[in-house]
Amino acid sequence: MAGKYRRVSLHRVVFLTFLVLVLSLAGSFLYVYSTFHHIENISELTKDRYLPQLIDKQRILVNIETMRQQLELIYTSDRPDVLRKARVVAQALIAEAVFEQSSEFHEKVLHLKPDIMRLLDLKEKIVQVEDELHETALQLERTLGRLSLRTGRQFGSLSFQAHGRMPSDDGSEGDMQASDLDDIAGVDGICKGNAARKPDCMALEEGREAVRAYRQSLRELDEQAFVIKERLRDGLHSLLDYAVTREVLKIASDMSKVEDTASRVRMRFFLLGCIVSGLLLGICVLIRFHILNPLLSMVDFLRDLRKGRKPGELSPVRIREMQQIMDMLPVLQSAMERLNMRTSLLMEERDEYARLSLRDALTGLGNRWALEERKKADISGLPLAVIMFDIDFFKKYNDAFGHLEGDNCLRQVASIARGSLHRHSDAVFRYGGEEFVVLIPGADSAAAQIVAERLREGVRQAGIAHPGVPGGMLSVSVGVACRGLGEATSFDTLVDQADQALYTSKRNGRDRVTVFSE
Ligand code: GH3
Ligand code: MG
Ligand code: MG
Repeated sequence: MAGKYRRVSLHRVVFLTFLVLVLSLAGSFLYVYSTFHHIENISELTKDRYLPQLIDKQRILVNIETMRQQLELIYTSDRPDVLRKARVVAQALIAEAVFEQSSEFHEKVLHLKPDIMRLLDLKEKIVQVEDELHETALQLERTLGRLSLRTGRQFGSLSFQAHGRMPSDDGSEGDMQASDLDDIAGVDGICKGNAARKPDCMALEEGREAVRAYRQSLRELDEQAFVIKERLRDGLHSLLDYAVTREVLKIASDMSKVEDTASRVRMRFFLLGCIVSGLLLGICVLIRFHILNPLLSMVDFLRDLRKGRKPGELSPVRIREMQQIMDMLPVLQSAMERLNMRTSLLMEERDEYARLSLRDALTGLGNRWALEERKKADISGLPLAVIMFDIDFFKKYNDAFGHLEGDNCLRQVASIARGSLHRHSDAVFRYGGEEFVVLIPGADSAAAQIVAERLREGVRQAGIAHPGVPGGMLSVSVGVACRGLGEATSFDTLVDQADQALYTSKRNGRDRVTVFSE
């Protein structure tokens, strides 16, 4: 039991497993990459160098085979036309060898040439002797016929074989029949002591001698031809060996190497697949038994406790882990609370900074940026009144009371302006210096004029002393511009028109309201 619940350093196991996985993947990638590179090299070499050589060798092999067939034909055939053709082909093939790249090959072929010529000459001689033998044999047959007529006896036929041929390689048939001439049935008996038959008998004897001589000559010639043919066969064999050179063998060995490599790669891929699958399976099993199972058993245990049921048995390790989790909960909770608090503080700070960035620090009114934001929300075609006002001779006020008092004065004017607006949607902005802008959505010219007058009058009624002006009281000049329902005047144009109206008020003596008109 103790072994079963032994604590496992899970993160270490998982880390090592992944390390092995990554290393084996990287290793196999490198291996496969280099293998494919090797295969690529071999196929390139085969295509560019070996293949042309192979084709060349193939041609040589075909030539050698043709030569062998021609020689066989020369040796076996008796037809003059066939012999002539074979001679031409053999000579052409010898001539073609001059163009081979290898001089050694050329020499080998030239070395065969005298034998080929000798075989051809011998063959011609054999044909010639055979013809003469044939002729003599015919005469012999005729003499026998005459004797047969004279004696009224039938003699055995001369089984003449025109073709003197050496025993073939397998030693089967031999055509030379030495006894057929000695044993022409009964002919020797009728020649003895008969003078009338003497000329025929003499001719018969001479013919037999001639045939024997021809046959002997044929046998000798054939023996010589056979020897030369065998020598040529050996020569062609050695040429064949020479043609199947190292390059061809190298191609064959490289190709078998490619085959080996491919099957090795396939095998290793298969093994790698098995290893990776095994590792992944191992990780799944680890997660299942060391993470999911403990968690599920703890969840079951807690659920039973909560529902008042008797909880199932829980291993000591699980209880200890659960205790550790429980111990950590308050710490986690307070950390979470601190985090929440900090987050909401940061959000408040962010909102405050956003608000401050749109506020004028001196008067607390919306600043120029706030006016810009308001501009973005403006809908063209809806009624809007813009009032712009400016403190009269404020420079002189500053000169008289100093800038601090000037600031106070600005605050006072801002507060009066705010007080003269009665609707929640109306707003006043500090436009810059001692200039302010009031927006009154939905107001027509008359309503805007009323607000403007209330504002101007408010400043006047505040009774702020201004020693530098004729009446001795602070005043403001006001300009009003309006956009009626359905009109397309832009926000910027309205502000500009209110500005123009304000300066009309300034020009006309200050402390007054002017409504912009075209
Ligand atoms: P006008 O009747 O033609 O408007 O004359 P003005 O003197 O009011 O106009 P001018 O543009 O010549 O002077 C504006 C003065 O407002 C100059 C500047 O010292 C003062 N001023 C602008 N902003 C502030 C501020 O924030 N505090 C103080 N104390 N004075 C300011
Ligand atoms: Mg001004
Ligand atoms: Mg002014």
